[in-house]
Amino acid sequence: MELTDTVDEETVEAPLDLSDVLKITDRCDQCGAQAFIWVNMPNSKAGLLFCNHHFRKNETKLREVAIDFIDESYKINKKASASSPD
Ligand SMILES: [Zn+2]
Repeated sequence: MELTDTVDEETVEAPLDLSDVLKITDRCDQCGAQAFIWVNMPNSKAGLLFCNHHFRKNETKLREVAIDFIDESYKINKKASASSPD
């Protein structure tokens, strides 16, 4: 009797999809709008959430202190804004 023990190890890769970290329920810490940027802060496990507007507003400072960013602002629907800052 032959033991054909072929352990077929299917390497089920748990996709660490960082492009889908932010949920629609995540809100900007500053204004409560939908958050599109997550900032990994050294002193905050939860990190900080920002809408595109507030992230850009604080971007320079944040880049100095943050460990990492997840920027999903590309997900924002491009809408013709009535009050374009330009
Ligand atoms: Zn905001």
